[in-house]
Amino acid sequence: MFKKILVANRGEIALRIQRACREMGIKAVMVYSEADREAKYVKLAEEAVCIGPGPSALSYLNMPAIISAAEVTDAEAIHPGYGFLSENADFAERVEKSGFQFIGPTPENIRMMGDKVSAKQAMIRAGVPCVPGSEGELPDDPVQMRRIAKAIGYPVIIKAAGGGGGRGMRVVHTEAALVNAVQMTKAEAGAAFGNAAVYMEKFLQNPRHIEIQVLADKYKSAVYLGERDCSMQRRHQKVIEEAPAPGIPRKLIERIGERCTAACKKIGYRGAGTFEFLYENGEFYFIEMNTRVQVEHPVTEMITGVDIVRTQIMVAAGEKLPFTQRQIEIKGHAIECRVNAEDPYKFTPSPGRITLWHAPGGPGVRVDSHVYSNYFVPPNYDSMIGKVIVHGDTREQALARMRTALLETVIEGINTNIPLHRELMVDAKFMAGGTNIHYLEEWLAQHKR
Ligand code: ADP
Repeated sequence: MFKKILVANRGEIALRIQRACREMGIKAVMVYSEADREAKYVKLAEEAVCIGPGPSALSYLNMPAIISAAEVTDAEAIHPGYGFLSENADFAERVEKSGFQFIGPTPENIRMMGDKVSAKQAMIRAGVPCVPGSEGELPDDPVQMRRIAKAIGYPVIIKAAGGGGGRGMRVVHTEAALVNAVQMTKAEAGAAFGNAAVYMEKFLQNPRHIEIQVLADKYKSAVYLGERDCSMQRRHQKVIEEAPAPGIPRKLIERIGERCTAACKKIGYRGAGTFEFLYENGEFYFIEMNTRVQVEHPVTEMITGVDIVRTQIMVAAGEKLPFTQRQIEIKGHAIECRVNAEDPYKFTPSPGRITLWHAPGGPGVRVDSHVYSNYFVPPNYDSMIGKVIVHGDTREQALARMRTALLETVIEGINTNIPLHRELMVDAKFMAGGTNIHYLEEWLAQHKR
């Protein structure tokens, strides 16, 4: 096992990884930007290295600075967390070339999944069902373009092969609008992602977002840890996640889970990963794979008892998965609310000093957050400041626990979206379960203030 790991991230996930390391008797080296000097995990760290000024481009995205921090501290491995460099194949490659273990899949697998066209092709080969669409990149010829769209059937969605974060997508409803829409998406994709390739998919009207968590080792063992429902989204960003997904027959989950683990074995995947699907009328359609730990991993940890971050570290160190598929048992129900420093209804970011922080507690309540009273939320990064996660024997109990937890949560000095979460936890449709990916946006439009 590693003796020392460098944590190349910030915020709650940096703290989450630091906790896993402590528990495993591994020293964690924390890196921080000048804006994160006051972070709790930096203050509590045995070793911490400043890697540059506040802006991410100069610190958390600065590969040479991160690799030198690992060199000067004699770390053996680098955990990239999520976001920043976590899905950057060039970074993974540089980490390994510099003699460190990258805690994640191989650079080849990251690269394959980072290009959505090659990811889809790999999934089709591995027998994972995908959204019907163009076979690979869209040709430039308008005649061929129209032919492909006609065969798929309108509406279609044009998506950038290199897209991410909900950007680089355009829905097309009619043939008349097609060619122009493709050209615009290509131009935007070229500018935003440095890759103008686009592909076409059938636009599903009312799907749910369901994803499968997998863990795999170097020895071609892979397990899936059930599913998560992440349909409560605003602007393609997840706001609330839960597991299991309400109302989906276990048989269907097992069938798709087995496809995912088979695909992992086929491509030689190692580490944690998530297969994201749209789910409509009882069918799953693969959209993309995330080759890292996800923000919402705790809901899966709560219902399976598996520590995903610990397992990531174990398999990166060359150990075998410590469990088989048959040992994975789903117990109860878990819900996560992402706590963002923002206006709860206008969504304008609200960085600044937290004058009072009181976290909830009690049975089945978990809070993953790096903040504390008198902590200053820097304006440089994502607005998420933590996550409240609850577990109950049933979904009803989990909902009741989340309501209690949100009632207890006190955050003063900045705005947060806690009031929005409180309202959603008593919303009749959300309480019934199974809302689709448009539900939250529709709810927000109806509850304008
Ligand atoms: P990103 O990598 O930018 O997150 P995804 O491919 O994961 O892109 O898609 C993000 C979101 O866009 C999905 O969760 C869904 O809301 C919507 N979306 C993507 N593809 C389709 C599709 N074929 N039909 C309907 N909605 C889609």
